[in-house]
Amino acid sequence: MHSTAPAGESARSPWSTEPELPPDGTPAAAARTTAAPTATGPTTAGPTTAGLTGSRTAADLGFEPRSVLVDLRAATARTLDELAADLDELRPLLAVDSNAEAQYVSTTRRLVAAEQTARDIDAAIERVGDGTYGYCTTCTAPIPAARLELRPHTSRCVSCG
Ligand SMILES: [Zn+2]
Repeated sequence: MHSTAPAGESARSPWSTEPELPPDGTPAAAARTTAAPTATGPTTAGPTTAGLTGSRTAADLGFEPRSVLVDLRAATARTLDELAADLDELRPLLAVDSNAEAQYVSTTRRLVAAEQTARDIDAAIERVGDGTYGYCTTCTAPIPAARLELRPHTSRCVSCG
């Protein structure tokens, strides 16, 4: 009584040896890109506001920026008036007084600097308004309070100069 059926052959189908392919390492979810591409970001504006964590407060700074800046702006306006008056006085002397020219040049230089200061103060007052005062306009790092106290209209941190 011999069985002619080849033993085991029915159980050994070539297809049955691979029950399920194991997942090939990464689940589909992990393959998805979660980080947005940064290379194609907007190129319109210079400094990003991503580093800004909120308006600097008077408690944080040790002074109330708007009132300090408004006072400084008023003082700068007075300086501008004085320098302009000085130039008016010097102008007629230019032809007759050899010292007048040097004074005129140095006074003009001071006037130009004061005009720049006035613009810087105006810009700083605007930054108080939009909540970006006290942050570097270049790298958005918070500017140390001591630096701001010394020069309230400064717009950059020490590193960005
Ligand atoms: Zn900076």
